[in-house]
Amino acid sequence: HNISELDLPDILGTIHEEVTARLGEGEQADYIESLADVPMDRFGMALVTVDGDVFEVGESREPFSIQSISKVHTLTLALEAVGDELWERVDREPSGDPFNSLIQLEYEKGIPRNPFMNAGALVVADVVLSSCDNAEQKLLDFMRRRSGNADVGVDEVVAKSERQSGHRNIAMANFIKSYGNLRNEVDRVLDFYWLQCSLKMDCVDLARSVQFLSNQGHCGVSGEDVVSEELATRINALMMTAGTYDAAGDFAFYVGLPAKSGVGGGIVAVVPHVMSLCTYYPGLDEKGNSLLGRYALHRFTRMTGLSVF
Ligand code: GLU
Repeated sequence: HNISELDLPDILGTIHEEVTARLGEGEQADYIESLADVPMDRFGMALVTVDGDVFEVGESREPFSIQSISKVHTLTLALEAVGDELWERVDREPSGDPFNSLIQLEYEKGIPRNPFMNAGALVVADVVLSSCDNAEQKLLDFMRRRSGNADVGVDEVVAKSERQSGHRNIAMANFIKSYGNLRNEVDRVLDFYWLQCSLKMDCVDLARSVQFLSNQGHCGVSGEDVVSEELATRINALMMTAGTYDAAGDFAFYVGLPAKSGVGGGIVAVVPHVMSLCTYYPGLDEKGNSLLGRYALHRFTRMTGLSVF
């Protein structure tokens, strides 16, 4: 795809204008206290081409809680560590149930449906923990190298809030442990999971952090090969089929890009071989995806023709 023919600043400007007229729509995630107060008057969007050019609009440098977007990065670390063995412990099917659902776990004997539901992410977290001595540091280093921002860190207020409201995740981790699908102590897995959710980054950081997925596994920010081209393709496939909660079908329909959302209001998306993107708007729709982020990505693929379909 020849993106030099696209007027990207103009396209982002149009999206920004359309979105500005709708600020205030949706609801913040209210089950985590510290996310419930985030102002709803901010929208940001950034894209990073495979050549490393950055285009951005709005509050693209406003750091926010990345929440479930981190599931892409921990999945990458887990696949780096154990490769295809991961698939003995986590499945690869879309779920059709909410991100924090426990319902399939009993039928499927503790094997989560996919790595992007909370259940799957807990198993992935367990794999990352088993693969090194300091998983927290490993994840932080990974995020900093991918984004080029050495200041990426944890929002301790959010982390505390996650812990306080984490009853369902605690239940889920125990349930998975009862099937023998967590090797580390439940509390250890949960602490790491809450830390990953509480990382704070902005749209530019996040778009850069997944650039390797648009760039055949190569991270242009650090110059490192992160994963093989094949693995990048597979992670993108999982994002397409399971990255946006139980709205992945709708996302494919309207947006047509592999994407991963978080309840903090961020969404990352990948146009393979072309660019990676991130949008931020804290008002969520009923499935937990950023309402205007999703709209912006929809408009973006319509205006550019960059849907993978
Ligand atoms: N902290 C969240 C949780 O598990 C992550 C939610 C999300 O972004 O999907 O519950």
